[in-house]
Amino acid sequence: MTLAVCVRCGESKVGAFTPCARCGLDPAAHGTDRDLQAKSLLLTERFHPGGELEAIGRKIRAGEPVSYDAAQLAQLVEELKTQKLPIVSKASPGCSIIGWALMGGAVALVVGLLWLWRFRGG
Ligand SMILES: [Zn+2]
Repeated sequence: MTLAVCVRCGESKVGAFTPCARCGLDPAAHGTDRDLQAKSLLLTERFHPGGELEAIGRKIRAGEPVSYDAAQLAQLVEELKTQKLPIVSKASPGCSIIGWALMGGAVALVVGLLWLWRFRGG
């Protein structure tokens, strides 16, 4: 895991897509917010080695604006879109809703068949 900094509050954390212990910001939960995820990736030791990341974290904590490299940000957004970068493999809310809908449909079908069976048996 890589050292990262929360893009919202500047708290240090491990991993770009882990939830922030301080403000609760969870980039992985924002499935379609590529901008937020790209910024989260930018604020890791991968792009800011040494004390650079800590300095950015201090800046955010002090309420100062952080300048993101526009070219790097655009490239990361593109990589995220095309899934070249592995995002924490959490089930997205959309997937689980579809899963639950399918399960609900299957249950309804079984219940319906049982009802039909009951009436047929008279
Ligand atoms: Zn935070």
